[in-house]
Amino acid sequence: MARIVEIATARLVRELNQPFVTALRSTTQVVSVAIRVTTDDGASGYGEAPQIWRVTGESQASAEACVQGPLADALLGLELDAESVRGVHELLARTVAGNTGARAACEVAAIDAVARASGQGFAAFLGAPAEAVTTDITIAATVTDPSAERVPEGFRTAKVKVGLDPADVERVIRIHDSADGVRIRVDANQAWDLDRATSNLERWQRAGVDLEFVEQPLPAWDVRGHAELRRRTLVPVLLDESVFSVHDLDRAIEADAADAVNIKLAKCGGIYAGLEIARLARRADLGLMVGSMMESELGVSAAAALASAIAPGQTHDLDAAWWSIDAADPGTPYSADAYRLNDGPGLSRASDRIGAEGLDWTSRR
Ligand SMILES: [Mg+2]
Repeated sequence: MARIVEIATARLVRELNQPFVTALRSTTQVVSVAIRVTTDDGASGYGEAPQIWRVTGESQASAEACVQGPLADALLGLELDAESVRGVHELLARTVAGNTGARAACEVAAIDAVARASGQGFAAFLGAPAEAVTTDITIAATVTDPSAERVPEGFRTAKVKVGLDPADVERVIRIHDSADGVRIRVDANQAWDLDRATSNLERWQRAGVDLEFVEQPLPAWDVRGHAELRRRTLVPVLLDESVFSVHDLDRAIEADAADAVNIKLAKCGGIYAGLEIARLARRADLGLMVGSMMESELGVSAAAALASAIAPGQTHDLDAAWWSIDAADPGTPYSADAYRLNDGPGLSRASDRIGAEGLDWTSRR
């Protein structure tokens, strides 16, 4: 059995090919912290902690402080193998409150190290047979350039970010009408109140826009509001910012507040926590989608492995890395709307690249 002997962090910045705008923020870069876990048999694994001020409250500086401090204290010296790695998320959850992005990145890095040492792909390690998962493409919340409303070639589902613009209703109708055969989902990122949500959904229905679902229309705390909205509309309601943990989902189910849930590693604290949320969602007959924050290929590849493990046939929300990977990159995991899971050990290309990149690592031994 190998022992963890080093935890290291490095700042990771990727330029986006075009700005990304939601009701919560606007950005032109992926800004995150890469985590490296190394064991005494020489194996290393990698994970990504994104900067998520508006959802989990985490920054690059806070993720570094958390990982270099209490999480490293908990992990250094830990015996790591295919069995014990399942308990890492609970160990880290006992160590610090919150900091779910930092915790998830450490757990993913530990799983990556174990999978790489055993020569298994990350998804295969989780028991997922899928070679690829399907993703939607995100259409930003405000567009001054009408060409940015276009659904890129190859994507069959568009997730339109709404909530910023009073002309949202017309914009979604325009996107729907101009993208023949493309399924539309909308994400308001908590921007509406109950009446606004009800009237927008009614207007889309009247215009013949058959929405697949509306994601997080109301504030994260407003579980009762989401339940009331479900009574008022036939459009399925998917919760994102309202559900971090399995306990949040339990309360949402109790309140009849959700038709589906968006599972993100950076909200729930890791792969095994995500699998637990998925089990509860399935028991309650809820729909499942795996999403990510604005992350690079490193974080999205772990999310894609989780998606293939829990809902291989669904259309997930894994386009985050598409925004920073050059379409001409011969190793891009994106092929039309498929995210190809690597067949090398662990997170394969995604962690190989981070390892080879010469980042400025700060390490704890
Ligand atoms: Mg969302």
